[in-house]
Amino acid sequence: MLERIDARANTIGGGLTIRRALPNTRRRTVGAWCFLDHAGPLQFPPGEGLRVGPHPHIGLQTFTWLIEGAVVHRDSLGNEQVITPGQVNLMTAGNGISHSEDSAAPPDGRPTGNPQRLHAVQLWIALPDSQRHRAPSFRNYAQLPLIESGGFSVRVLAGSALGHTSPAEIFSPLVGLDLTAPAPGHLTLPVTASYEHAALVLAGEADVAGEKLAPGTLLYIGTGRDSIDISCRAAARLILIGGTPFREDILLWWNFVARTPEEMEQATRDWNAGQRFGSVHGSPSPPLVAPDPAGLHLRAPQAQRPSA
Ligand code: MN
Repeated sequence: MLERIDARANTIGGGLTIRRALPNTRRRTVGAWCFLDHAGPLQFPPGEGLRVGPHPHIGLQTFTWLIEGAVVHRDSLGNEQVITPGQVNLMTAGNGISHSEDSAAPPDGRPTGNPQRLHAVQLWIALPDSQRHRAPSFRNYAQLPLIESGGFSVRVLAGSALGHTSPAEIFSPLVGLDLTAPAPGHLTLPVTASYEHAALVLAGEADVAGEKLAPGTLLYIGTGRDSIDISCRAAARLILIGGTPFREDILLWWNFVARTPEEMEQATRDWNAGQRFGSVHGSPSPPLVAPDPAGLHLRAPQAQRPSA
């Protein structure tokens, strides 16, 4: 099964417009991946940058893949980490954490990314019920497997592909890949048949499973395939995500993933009261205010619709 799904424009901190590919009206999850924003590539005007002030998360992992830029992550565990191109930041929210993400100060001579640029993908991974109340944690992964195949450089961001496994700590069967070709390429990528997948082109154009894709269109690929054909006629870049269809009914509200409206209301009250989520120090951006989840009971039946 193939479905073409348009990403929607959305706005995040600092007034930055991004393309949101997940969730969407057709698909709420792909495996346990439950959120996918594509930001950039862009050049900030002088004095501007990514400005996402302190905000909380529960029940998920935030998974940031940086292609261009330099962004400093600060969290309530005391971590302060500049992410630079080619790296993943993986924050496991568990029962509660808060963090901020701001374009970093100009580098002091070190060979880091350019904070005036941004090209990034931020994903969320829903934690399974058995893991969603675990203690929060954060890791930066600077070394990820890179395989050359069919003219593509395949970076294994999460899970396994082409015989290599990412060190990123995940809690359900899933995969995340960045595929980059500097010139025409063709790759028949072996995949796990029990996984569903989705592809999103980040730059250029590519053919995936026979569908021509450009940035802004998510291609959903159902289970039951042993391989996916990926090709391009010129330089291109895409990500492929996948996993075992996530059978738990999740609610996604603001920055929270949970199971019931009551959990959302509690998390909202706790954050707005300055409890439970600790504090983030050093961000130049003001904290975000959690919106009122009053409408959530009405939305819950649709929001809880299973993904497959
Ligand atoms: Mn966040």
